[in-house]
Amino acid sequence: MTDVVAASDFIREAIREDLRTNKYGGRVHTRFPPEPNGYLHIGHAKAICLDFGVAREFGGMCNLRFDDTNPTKESSEYVEAIKGDVQWLGFDWGEREFYASDYFAALHEYAVQLIQLGKAYVCDLSQDEIREYRGTLTEPGRASPFRNRSIEENLDLFERMRAGEFPDGARVLRAKIDMASPNVLMRDPVIYRILHASHHRTGDKWCVYPMYDFTHCLSDSIERITHSLCTLEFENNRELYDWYLDQLGVYHPQQIEFARLNLTYTVMSKRILKGLVDAGHVSAWDDPRMPTLSGLRRRGFTSEAIRDFASTIGLAKTNSTVDVELLEHCLRQDLNRRSPRVMAVLQPIRLVIDNYAEGQTEEFDAENNPEDPAMGTRKVPFSRVLYVERDDYQEDPPKKWFRLGPGREVRLKHAYYVRCTGAVKDAQTGEIVELHCTYDPESRGGWSKNGRDVRGTLHWVSAAHARQAEVRLYERLFSVADPLQEKQDLKTYLNPGSLVTLTNSQVEPSLAAAAPGSRYQFLRQGYFCVDPDSSADRRVFNRTVSLRDTWAKIQQGQSRS
Ligand code: ATP
Ligand code: MG
Repeated sequence: MTDVVAASDFIREAIREDLRTNKYGGRVHTRFPPEPNGYLHIGHAKAICLDFGVAREFGGMCNLRFDDTNPTKESSEYVEAIKGDVQWLGFDWGEREFYASDYFAALHEYAVQLIQLGKAYVCDLSQDEIREYRGTLTEPGRASPFRNRSIEENLDLFERMRAGEFPDGARVLRAKIDMASPNVLMRDPVIYRILHASHHRTGDKWCVYPMYDFTHCLSDSIERITHSLCTLEFENNRELYDWYLDQLGVYHPQQIEFARLNLTYTVMSKRILKGLVDAGHVSAWDDPRMPTLSGLRRRGFTSEAIRDFASTIGLAKTNSTVDVELLEHCLRQDLNRRSPRVMAVLQPIRLVIDNYAEGQTEEFDAENNPEDPAMGTRKVPFSRVLYVERDDYQEDPPKKWFRLGPGREVRLKHAYYVRCTGAVKDAQTGEIVELHCTYDPESRGGWSKNGRDVRGTLHWVSAAHARQAEVRLYERLFSVADPLQEKQDLKTYLNPGSLVTLTNSQVEPSLAAAAPGSRYQFLRQGYFCVDPDSSADRRVFNRTVSLRDTWAKIQQGQSRS
């Protein structure tokens, strides 16, 4: 892969410096630490490309570590989905698949050590009381009445917590740090809580679970991670991590924070995404409108496009929001290179060529990709009755309309010039049901001897040869750029037009057996891929992304002038 090799940024600079000073004996060892409480999203892709990318560039290693300390929210379904997504993105953790839950015994031992050092105590305050005692950003906290329990009493109580003697929430183990610290996280944070819940890996072995902060820094230490790359929200946690590692006298990784990815029109939080799934606003985690990697994949995104996007946005030390158009741009660039062009009529209307012999068929050689002649050509059948797009005809077209209208001549891609001679309307509804035209036999291949100026080129399919297909047109899931900043409930800002399903589209016969996951450019329409819902007798295509819409721009220009 060539995508990130030459990258330079403050993280890579820091790693180069550590290599120069031999801080970690020449080692570069990173990790990607997801919590298996949902599917990965495009924000995680940024972290994955960084964690695995840096390791690859510097000849180091990257662990995949599941931060699984929250049994009620986590599951092996999520573990499997995360593994599949990381692999799909093009990264490999080799033998290094780890789980924080593998360290539960070690972490418990570390907690006992802290008690023995007089640095941790069992506290009987309720969750609300702990919060109340903690103080605020402007006021110091107050000491828990249980703060000065003896080491023996703490060891005894913690052991009885572990043995299952107390109900959930009855007690916690807390670090004994500083209730007046300006960093609220340092005000005697909770280390262990009681939770009688089955864990997806350790089952019912434990009824006390370590908290995220305690687990995270010690897992990094146990794995001898050199550079713990994380998002900016964890800047304040660094002081706490250092405290745990210092008290226990164990190996210290270097934490470096970078800005998380935010995208316009996109919500990136597993909790909120799960809410959309649970409420049925989308079909599943892999709904093609979701910003999850599984959703983007189903939508037709390539991993190359996502990696290209990740390296294009780079790294920063302050948070900002990236325009989703940039992601779409990276996608179009990649799809343009790789997608065969085909013809598909999404909203068909019959076009009858009155001077073309009934029963006659001919085939045209059509190039598969003008960007890449190596992709070859295919045969496209042509006959007297075609389908064209219903909105390629206007009875009373505006200026600069280069498509069909009474008397207008257009080029049929790869085929002939046709001139529209009329339209048949339904006697009752007035709806146009069929178009008629004549063709110029001299224009075979799409050009004329006398060099007539025919500006519009339309796609078409031969009615007798076409295959019916379902086409799902996706738009953005949200109708506002920053839905979480809006006043009302998130669901108010769901885009009602985010999915339009067309059930009677007509595609060229070369698509008859297109395999799920295959990608195409439908000429003039956009990039599409075959949805896994497809079967031998039912074709379903997802619109990955549209082509840039030049007509919309012209229209805008016209309405302004
Ligand atoms: P979410 O809030 O979406 O659930 P999270 O940070 O809680 O995300 P984790 O499973 O803990 O989810 O994330 C694993 C790693 O991915 C972390 O190191 C985290 O910093 C990183 N990450 C998560 N979201 C983003 C993002 N939007 N941009 C960059 N990195 C991210
Ligand atoms: Mg989280």
